[in-house]
Amino acid sequence: MIPYARHEVTEEDIAAVVEVLRSDRLTQGPVVERFEAALCEATRARYAVAVSSGTAALEAIFHGLDRRGAEVVMPAMTFPATANAALWAGWRLVFADIERETACLSARCAERLCGPQTAALLAMDYAGHPAAWHELHRIARPRGLVLIADACHSLGAVLDGLKVGEYADIAALSFHAAKVITTGEGGAVVTSNALWAECARRFRDQGYARGAEVAAGPGRHHGEQWVLGHNYRMTEMQAALGLAQLRRLPQILERRRQIAARYSEHLAPVEGLVLPREREGARSAWHLYAVRYPWAQCECPGLTRERAMGLVREAGVETQIHYAPVYQHPYYRLHVGAGPEWDAIRETEGHYRECLTLPLYPSMTDADVDFVAHALIKIIDGGK
Ligand SMILES: *Cc1c(COP(=O)(O)O)cnc(C)c1O
Repeated sequence: MIPYARHEVTEEDIAAVVEVLRSDRLTQGPVVERFEAALCEATRARYAVAVSSGTAALEAIFHGLDRRGAEVVMPAMTFPATANAALWAGWRLVFADIERETACLSARCAERLCGPQTAALLAMDYAGHPAAWHELHRIARPRGLVLIADACHSLGAVLDGLKVGEYADIAALSFHAAKVITTGEGGAVVTSNALWAECARRFRDQGYARGAEVAAGPGRHHGEQWVLGHNYRMTEMQAALGLAQLRRLPQILERRRQIAARYSEHLAPVEGLVLPREREGARSAWHLYAVRYPWAQCECPGLTRERAMGLVREAGVETQIHYAPVYQHPYYRLHVGAGPEWDAIRETEGHYRECLTLPLYPSMTDADVDFVAHALIKIIDGGK
């Protein structure tokens, strides 16, 4: 079976983790600090705070902004973790639509939904492609809104020369095994705002403040708890794996780009199939290759997406759907309440109906890519 995603762990990665296991520090130590410095370099943010997952990073962001009761405008075309994190920190959600071209937050729709209670805009760099950050800046700046990037797909993406740590005010990264680089589980907050970085550092560590200014006070040698935090720390083993993976980031991105290009070459002639493309000035991290097809509508009346997924699976290929809109999940229907108005979900619903994610991971061979593409073509042609 060709899986839709697969981590890549080299002998150097393994050696780096083993070295840490032989050292006298296993969690939140010097290797985590080195990983954070490397993340600053890779994202061009001034500060990076490594945490235990991408979800923890999002939660640290929303908690650190400290705007309980305020609204955040975000897309529903995302993994529920994005919305869950805001809810945990007491924010109110306003779901906005996506752009057809990139499946990222629609700036036009977001602007329409901004109101007096709005304190932040969150965009998710879907599949690794940067959202319309220039337009989002134009909306956020005059209103004093914070721009949050869910960059869990987009480590390594570039927008007009800007990297993930520069094009939003604060960003969350994920190092889950399926993502661009992995630490098994893991994540990071990246920002150039010193205060928000410190908030994230405290939040991951039970709300403790550490460091020179705290230790200097009388009786304060052990630090003090200032906010209600969690244990969201990263281990040294995770950081060692992350550091080793990050060194290969350029090669990983290049291989992902090649695979995407090869898919596009094969699939371009298929009528009705919409392929992911980079917008001018944007370089995707190519975390996912998600196509759109009007299943069961035009030429293939009997070919539903579920049937197509079943047929490619029989051929040995695993595909995925990214994503069911957040408001459709039972928890959201039952406990968060009324879904958004139609104008705010038209493209979201369309994308959900039509999307299909094909396998993409650096260790895929060209032959694997050809095999997947031909399996899909055969099924679409067979359905006609
Ligand atoms: C993976 C992911 C997350 C959560 O990251 P974890 O590391 O799995 O907690 C959040 N948002 C998006 C868009 C993701 O893809």
